[in-house]
Amino acid sequence: MNKIIEANSMQFKFDNSYQRELDGFYALCQAEAAPAPRWVKFNHALAEELGLRTEEIDTQEGAEIFSGNILPPGAVPIAQVYAGHQFGNFSPRLGDGRALLLGEVIDRMGKRRDIQLKGSGRTPFSRSGDGKAAIGPMLREYLMGEAMYHLGIPTTRALAVVATGEFVYRDTPLPGAVLTRVAASHIRIGTFEYFASRNDIESVRRLADYTIRRHYPELIGKSYIEFVLGVIARQAELVARWMCVGFIHGVMNTDNMLLSGETIDYGPCAFLEHYDPATVFSSIDHKGRYAFGNQPTIAQWNLARFAETLLPLLDKDSDRAVQLATEAINSFSEQYENAWLTMMRRKLGLERIETDDAKLAQEFMDALQDGHADFILAWRNLADAAEFNPVPLRSVFRGDMAKIDEWLPRWQSRLALEKRAAAEIAADMRRVNPYVIPRNHLVEQVLEAATINNDFAPLNQMLEVLRDPYTEREAARLYAEPASSEQAACHRTFCGT
Ligand code: AMP
Ligand code: MG
Repeated sequence: MNKIIEANSMQFKFDNSYQRELDGFYALCQAEAAPAPRWVKFNHALAEELGLRTEEIDTQEGAEIFSGNILPPGAVPIAQVYAGHQFGNFSPRLGDGRALLLGEVIDRMGKRRDIQLKGSGRTPFSRSGDGKAAIGPMLREYLMGEAMYHLGIPTTRALAVVATGEFVYRDTPLPGAVLTRVAASHIRIGTFEYFASRNDIESVRRLADYTIRRHYPELIGKSYIEFVLGVIARQAELVARWMCVGFIHGVMNTDNMLLSGETIDYGPCAFLEHYDPATVFSSIDHKGRYAFGNQPTIAQWNLARFAETLLPLLDKDSDRAVQLATEAINSFSEQYENAWLTMMRRKLGLERIETDDAKLAQEFMDALQDGHADFILAWRNLADAAEFNPVPLRSVFRGDMAKIDEWLPRWQSRLALEKRAAAEIAADMRRVNPYVIPRNHLVEQVLEAATINNDFAPLNQMLEVLRDPYTEREAARLYAEPASSEQAACHRTFCGT
């Protein structure tokens, strides 16, 4: 069904190691035809990173390629198989139900990247789904991925969004779209679970060896427990970064956790407004399993599922294997706390290490909770307090200020131990406490303008602002303002299906 076009009109230089080396881990599959592909969004900066000649891309041929209608030379489209624990329940066979991996390219930094179409039609893993995606959720994924990237958080990114020219049917008919996703790889904890749950130990070993070569080359030749520890370290670091900017993933199923350590699947994700660890935005997360404050615990739970898949490789003696895995999983807490504390010290303006720093950080957040303070602005305005102006910080409180009033002088005394100029401390703090993040009510507004009124200017402006989240400036001021309490109260997110 797909046309193959001559080389030179697209410049992907594919080198498809997953497809070549992991026979049995995917199904060969073609995209469904899109009736009338039309450009919606193209990520020039990312295209440059991939070494693409971007001048040829804004063409109709480009739209045909990124809708799946035309197969670029060297692409071998596959749907990858995986399993996964979804909200704690195991599904033995999920797989790419609406995605196709076109192949891998080596970017300009020498890094191998997956190029994947999402929303390109049914695959052998679609179950009852249509394999399609609506334009709104695909633009949301584009926006959130870019925001995370510019915040400095490891993430998959979107290269393109193309409208397909057909409707997809959800509660109502919605315009369909295909997103092109770029990822370090799409190997998930669920990929390991798929083979382990079938007792296919040889496939688990092949996958582990492949993953080590691709993402943990420093561990080649070491024992598999080192691999488990490496994966744990990366996830601990990732989730600590989320916690520092108030990011709530929303659907941390094991099939949405990548071995590369990148954030993936921006379905129901959202950023905190005021600090409350129990915050949940997702309409399907009834019990708050993936609440903001639960994310480290869930990451550890997912990693335990990962370690279980490798048990037969850890030791011939199964008791010993369980012991090794348990010790590794238990080390998550310490690794996470260390990563979190390192970041928290920087957020608080601290370079020295003092014993009570973790407590000081947590007490600041307790004060934010009591005071119903906006999470992002409270951290941001703490830099002014470092320069002896507590007014901007105090202005973001909407509730009880007893705790923050008691906390500020203690933090000031701790800062005094730093023996650094206040301006220098404040400047360092502003480099790690963002001024803008994609605020939920604004995300909804710009997506509504794009999908309902076909007006992409607000989305493009927001993307422009989010390219530089750490600089306070006039052009970003409106984006930095918290939602009104009515806007914040009704915010709900939905899965992008
Ligand atoms: P997600 O919630 O996007 O992580 O997807 C969970 C699983 O559902 C994956 O196996 C997806 O491929 C599958 N899935 C999600 N949406 C669709 C769809 N529209 N058609 C087919 N499969 C889907
Ligand atoms: Mg997923």
